[in-house]
Parts: sequence; structure tokens; C-alpha cells
Amino acid sequence: MKEKEARIASEKVQGLLSEDLKKAEQEKLAADHQIASQKDMYKRLQEYNTSLQQYNSKLQTELSTANESLKKVEKEKLAIVENLSTLRGHYNTLQEQLTSSRASVDEAVRLKESLVNEVKCLREELHRVREDRDRQVSEVQALTADLLKFREKTGKSFMELDNLTIKSNALQETCSSQLEQIRILQHQLAAANEKLKMADLSTIETKVKFDEQKRTIVELQERLENAELQLSEGEQLRKKLHNTILELKGNIRVFCRVRPMFSDDGSGTETVISYPTSTETLGRGIELLQSGGQKYPFTFDKVFSHEASQQDVFVEISQLVQSALDGYKVCIFAYGQTGSGKTYTMLGKPDAPKQKGLIPRSLEQIFQTSQVLSAQGWKYKLQASMLEIYNETIRDLLLPNRSNPSDMTRGESGVSGKQYTIKHDANGNAYVPDLTIVDVCSIQEITLLLEQAAQSRSVGKTLMNEQSSRSHSVFTLRISGVNENTEQQVQGVLNLIDLAGSERLSRSGATGDRLKETQAINKSLSCLSDVIFALAKREDHVPFRNSKLTTLLQPCLGGDSKTLMFVNISPESSSVGESLCSLRFAARVNACEIGVPRRHTAIRSADSRLSYG
Ligand code: ADP
Ligand code: MG
Repeated sequence: MKEKEARIASEKVQGLLSEDLKKAEQEKLAADHQIASQKDMYKRLQEYNTSLQQYNSKLQTELSTANESLKKVEKEKLAIVENLSTLRGHYNTLQEQLTSSRASVDEAVRLKESLVNEVKCLREELHRVREDRDRQVSEVQALTADLLKFREKTGKSFMELDNLTIKSNALQETCSSQLEQIRILQHQLAAANEKLKMADLSTIETKVKFDEQKRTIVELQERLENAELQLSEGEQLRKKLHNTILELKGNIRVFCRVRPMFSDDGSGTETVISYPTSTETLGRGIELLQSGGQKYPFTFDKVFSHEASQQDVFVEISQLVQSALDGYKVCIFAYGQTGSGKTYTMLGKPDAPKQKGLIPRSLEQIFQTSQVLSAQGWKYKLQASMLEIYNETIRDLLLPNRSNPSDMTRGESGVSGKQYTIKHDANGNAYVPDLTIVDVCSIQEITLLLEQAAQSRSVGKTLMNEQSSRSHSVFTLRISGVNENTEQQVQGVLNLIDLAGSERLSRSGATGDRLKETQAINKSLSCLSDVIFALAKREDHVPFRNSKLTTLLQPCLGGDSKTLMFVNISPESSSVGESLCSLRFAARVNACEIGVPRRHTAIRSADSRLSYG
């Protein structure tokens, strides 16, 4: 039963429980519903909250800007307040000033009144004082009149007294200073005297020494002078002997001269010339080095290196020039290619003393010596002429009034177009009639003459386009001397010849005038060598008449004249071929014997006419 009761109770409980469960489930559903609606609410609330937050932040920024502007406004307010307070202070001070100035104005008004009173009193006083013054002025005037009179009397004596005291003071001062000086000087004098005594002693010693030295110097000078004299005598003797030896040998003398290298020679500036230094050939030898390495040695009577000056060259020929004064016929040629220094050697630059050539130096020497010889009774007449031979035509280089050089064409013979011919006189000597002959009477004339000649040549050079190198120029000085005491006569001739350029001219392409010119030079140079070699071989026929140059020089080229040839050499390696030709020709000439020269002297006779020879 109990169990049954328990079962029924549990069944009842079960029923209750299931009902409860149902209720609970229903409640749960309702609760779920509520939750969902709550969630929805929550979401909406959240959205609302965020929008509220945004709004809040906006409001906060606005608040901060409003705060800032408030601060600014407050600051401005503060400033304005300050301003206001200062203005108030200012106002107060101004008001104070106003009150004080009002007070001072009042005071000033009072002062003015008192001053006006005072002025009145003072005016009255002034009036009184003026009256006093007038009285006193009249008194002073009277007194000054008195004073003036008094002063006139005493002034003069006072002045004198003053002057005298000043002077005496000055004198006293100078006196004392001089006394001082005298004392010092006395001291110095004593010291100086002491020194003088010592100096005297040493002077005597040095004087003795000095005298000794003087004596030795005089002795040495005498010895030196003697030695120098001996030396120059020896040198002169050497030259004379050398000349005599050469004359006795009868050879044509040949001097070789090498011109300096020019910096603007361009290619081929390395030198190909050397000078052997053995004592045997010193000053006489020259060696030419060809590009192949071959050496060509030559020896002549003298070789001048590029260092030789015009004076050095002249010294060597001065004896020869001198002999023209003694009655010899002298011929000096310059041979060599164009640009090798022929004109420089012969004429040089007559206006530059150091660069004068052989012609001016010879003229000067002859002129000077002739003057020296006049003391022995010699009277000389010197006549110069200068001509040029171009294309076998003669041109006068000393023709006066050569003012219009454009007239000078080489086809003609000078300004006048005159044809110069060579004539022969009764003795068979050649001369050119109508040629300008200048009597040389002074050194100045020599200078003038050479300037004219140099100008003629240079005019030729520029105008005739280098044709001066294609012509021979012949300078002739005829010398005739008479000795008043001994009735002796001499007739000498000096010929200085600047030959045309000896370079071998290429015949190819040369036509017309050029060909004619080339042929003329070749012909006249070969004529000259023909004549020299014929003379050397003592042939019966010497072809003098084959060219103008040899015809003209016939009397001077024969056996009785002194002939010297300069062979001029350019030092550049580019000229080595021409140099070799020149040196070979010169060596052949040097080997020629043409006989012993002879002097032309005579005792004065009726026929003393001077021919070209
Ligand atoms: P060439 O007459 O043989 O044609 P130049 O005498 O006219 O030759 O010489 C050519 C150049 O060389 C000239 O300018 C000349 O002054 C110069 N000259 C020649 N020889 C010498 C020398 N020994 N010293 C200085 N200059 C020289
Ligand atoms: Mg020349």
C-alpha cells in the first residue's frame, strides 16, 4: 500500500512536474522573445550611443575654440585696461602740470611788474651815469693828450734799453756755449794729434811700399808694352810672310766663310759643318758631313767659321787691300749659292759699324793710309765705280738721281735706258765709257756712296723680285798715286765682286726670260771658271771675251794681279749639296797657279793716262 501510495504520489508528482516543464518551456520561449527584443534594443542603443559620442566630440572641439577666443578676448581686455590706466596717469600728470604752469604764469606776471619798476629806476640811474661818463671822458681826453706828450719823450729811451738788454743776453748765451765747445774741441784736438802721430808713422811705411810697387808696375808696364809691340810686329811680319809665300806660290787664294745658322731656317737646321782641330789645318780646314755619314774634308788658305766677325775677315785681307795702294791689281770675288752671305761679306750693312763689309772697310783703310802717306809726299786720286751685270747687260749702280726706281727694268741699263758697252783702249785694257765715276775725297763721301749703292741693290731686290741674286755686282776702286818728291807713280786697282748665286738652277719648266736668265748666269759663271783654269794651264788662248764679266776683268785676272776668292757657305743640312759643289769648285780654283803678281809703278812720263786696268 505504501508502495502504491508512493507510486501514486510519484505519478502525481510526475504529472505535476511535466506540467511544470511545459510551463517552464513556455516561459523559456517568452524569455527568448524578450531576450531577442532586448538585444535589438541594445543594438539601437549602441548606435544611439556612438552618434551621441560623435556629437559630444564635436561639441568639445567647439568648446575648445570658444575657450581660445575667450582667452584672446581676455588678453585684449587686459591690454585695454592697462592702456586705460596709463592714460589716466597721463591725464593726472597733465592736470598737475596745468595747475603748476598756471601758478608760474601768475608768478611771471608779478615778476614782470617788479621788473618794469626796476627798469624805470635803472633808466634814471643810466641817465645819471651817462652824464658822469661824459664828464669823465672829457677829463680822460685831456689826460691822454698829456700822456702822449710824456710818452714821446720816454718811449725812445725805453726801446733802446730793451734792445740792449736782449742783445747782451744773447751774447752771454753764445759765449757760454762757445766756451763749452772750445773745451770739447781741445779734447778732440789732443786725441787727433795723438792719432796723427801714429798715422804719420804708418804713412811713411806705406809710402815706401807704394813707391816700390809703383816702380815694379812701371817696369812691368814697360815690359808689357815691349811684348805687345813685339807681338804686333810679329803678327804683321807673319801676315806679310804669309802673303809673300802665297804670292810666290802664285796660287789664286781662296778663303772660305760659313755664315751663322738662322733660327728661322726651318727644316734642316742641324749643322753639317765641322772644323778640324789638328794644328796642321787649324783655321784652314773645313769638313762637310753628308747625310749618308760621308765626310768631305777641304783645306783653304783660311776658313772663317760662323763666329768670325766682319772685322776678323777684314784683318785677313787688309794686307791685300793695302797692296792696291802700292800699285797692284787686286781682285776679290765672292762665290756661293744665294743666301750664303756674299753680299753680307762684300757690302754688309754700311750703316751699322760692326756689320760693315769689305767694301766700306777697304775704302776707309785706303783713304786713311793715303792720308798718312801724304806726309811722305804721296798724292793719291781715288775713283770709285760700281756696276751690275744682269743677263749680259751692264747697269750703273752709282747713277745719280735714281729717284724713280720703277723705270729700272733689267732689259735696259738704268734710268736713262743707256746702253753701256765695254771698250778697249790702245793698250788693250777694258773700260766702260759713260759709267759714273765718283772721286773719293772724304770719309763722308764714302758713306754716301755706299748708301747709294746699297739702296740701288736693295731697290733691285724688292722691285726685281730677287733678281739681285741673279746678277754680278762689280765695285771698282782705281788708285793713282804720284810722289811729289821722287816723281814716282803708282796705279793700282781694287775690284770687289759679288757674283750671282751659284746654285744649279733646274732647267725643267724654265721658259722665255727665265730660261734666258738661267742660261746667262750659268754661262758667265762657267766663263769665269774657264778663264781661271785656262790661265792656270797657261794656255795660249784664254777665253776672256766669252762673257761681259771676264771681258771687264781681263786686266785684273792675268798673271800679274792678286786674286782672292771667298767661297761662302750656308750651314744648313738642306744646303749640303750646293755647299759641296761650291767647296769642290773652290778647291779646284785654289789649286790654280796663275803666276806672280807685279807692281805697276813708273817714273812720271808725259803719258800718264789711267786706263781701266
Ligand atoms: P747672298 O748675297 O749670298 O745671297 P746675303 O749676303 O744676302 O747672301 O745673306 C743672306 C742673309 O744672311 C742676309 O740677311 C745677311 O744679313 C745674313 N748673313 C750672311 N752672312 C752673315 C754673317 N756672317 N753674319 C750674320 N748674318 C749674315
Ligand atoms: Mg747677294
